[in-house]
Amino acid sequence: MTGTAMNNPASNAGADTRLINVLLAEDEESFIDALVVGLGHEGFSVSVARDGVQAVQLFDQLNPDLILLDLMLPKMSGIDVCRSIRSRSAVPIIMVTAKGAEIDTVVALEMGADDYVTKPYRLRELVARMRAVMRRSGNSNVEYAESRVGGAATESVWEASNVRVDLDKRRVFVRGDEVVLRRKEFELLTLLVENAGRVLTRDLLIDRIWGTDYIGDTKTLDVHIKRLRSRIEVNPAAPVLITTVRGVGYRFDAAPD
Ligand code: CA
Repeated sequence: MTGTAMNNPASNAGADTRLINVLLAEDEESFIDALVVGLGHEGFSVSVARDGVQAVQLFDQLNPDLILLDLMLPKMSGIDVCRSIRSRSAVPIIMVTAKGAEIDTVVALEMGADDYVTKPYRLRELVARMRAVMRRSGNSNVEYAESRVGGAATESVWEASNVRVDLDKRRVFVRGDEVVLRRKEFELLTLLVENAGRVLTRDLLIDRIWGTDYIGDTKTLDVHIKRLRSRIEVNPAAPVLITTVRGVGYRFDAAPD
């Protein structure tokens, strides 16, 4: 039982009620207005940079908890901003890309962005991604933000295409039946389902799941993908849930709902 007072967000709420500081690098006023208001309601404090140069300057001044970085920015591209900030900080970065720009997305992930959203996106989806990258980065304020907006019971469960992952209980259900996964398989599936519909590069998957523990050639990833498919696909030889994106990585395909 790990439910000590130390881990209880409610017991920390009085001592740690700082808002999560987000640096928004965006030059379209309609997006800026909507995000400042919408994210404010979700427990985030938003600072705005309207070009790439300002984004780097504000990052140094504000030391934000998370960066929302538009790819197409005046003066300095989002890719260059990402490269610059990533060279000296592990701050979570979510890239905002234009629809149909998959190649930009791959470059952004290779530059060290943690995740991306594609315009137009829904606030709810963005907030879910922000929480996910902060949870993975180990930011303690994310618990506070989750408890603050309510509905905490649903925040730790991800579901797509009849695959349900319960992060707290570390249980996985496929088409209603529980499947038992090894630790790395569970972590890999969680990352894929959290990012359903998105291509995750091989490097990103290896970095997130194994980090510096990764030994040997890149077959380890393929072996784990194969094992996962054998447990969740109806026909593992013709996978429809975990798709290979040739030369790039893997994508968990979200069925339309
Ligand atoms: Ca833009």
